[in-house]
Amino acid sequence: MSVTFWIPSAARRTVPCEYCEKGWCGTKYGCTGFREESTAPEVNFSNRNACLVLRAMGLPTDDDLCGSLSPNEADKLTEATFPPAYGGTHKRIDKLREVLRYSRDTQQEVVWG
Ligand SMILES: [Zn+2]
Repeated sequence: MSVTFWIPSAARRTVPCEYCEKGWCGTKYGCTGFREESTAPEVNFSNRNACLVLRAMGLPTDDDLCGSLSPNEADKLTEATFPPAYGGTHKRIDKLREVLRYSRDTQQEVVWG
């Protein structure tokens, strides 16, 4: 299981399906050859890392690991201190800061789950 931090109200754009381009996908699998993606940054963590990150931001980590932040709340967390990174987590934390800054700069809510 994993947890994604994203901006649900961000505009979406149509991009070519990268799996079709690699020949792993196609119309016989119900793919149109295109998919929608957000124009805003998004970041995904394992449940375990999501717990660590939420705790570091002082946010609840109860059972369902989902929630939301207003742009003002996101702004206050852009400089949050996170636990020492291990594995590839530090890159994801940089990406999480991008999501928080995008929320602040565009005044759109961040959600995770
Ligand atoms: Zn495809």
